[in-house]
Amino acid sequence: VADREVLTWEGFGVASRELTQQIVDSGWIPELIVAIARGGLIPAGAISYAMDVKACGTMNVEFYTGVGETLEAPILLPPLMDISAMEGKRVLVVDDVADSGKTLKMVMDMIAEDGLSLDGENQVKVDARSVCIYKKSRSIITPDYIWAETDKWINFPWSTLPTITANA
Ligand code: 5GP
Repeated sequence: VADREVLTWEGFGVASRELTQQIVDSGWIPELIVAIARGGLIPAGAISYAMDVKACGTMNVEFYTGVGETLEAPILLPPLMDISAMEGKRVLVVDDVADSGKTLKMVMDMIAEDGLSLDGENQVKVDARSVCIYKKSRSIITPDYIWAETDKWINFPWSTLPTITANA
């Protein structure tokens, strides 16, 4: 079995507080937090509470089908978030890890492009930044805020245990 980076629930608690401190210290407080589901859901919730930002949304993206196995490109799944809700706002996009970085890049590009096309004449912008707990060296995008770097496969506390099935 290849060497893994293990994030425990305890470690996740520390990571989300430290990441939030980093964001707050940068002087940029988001008005809306957008989780990339599903990996970013739990980090986004923790950051949302830690900085007391109540407005949360999600974008549902699928890319990995197994350990190191991916689709050709990340795809957006319904329900789709209305990007016009981000118009003119400071938006924090949250994911667990930028690995290839393709998922995060797709979402950031979509927000930038759709943000621009919201109002063709006035070029309405979305002030979007990104945060990931981990970044890998091969990532094609560098998140604005990162807690740690690794090139190992990461075991996150929420996705490591087996799926629960009914007791017989
Ligand atoms: P990317 O598009 O950056 O390659 O990765 C997209 C998503 O795949 C991540 O948000 C995460 O949910 C999943 N993923 C990528 N690398 C890892 C990893 O090392 N461990 C786990 N558990 N998930 C990963």
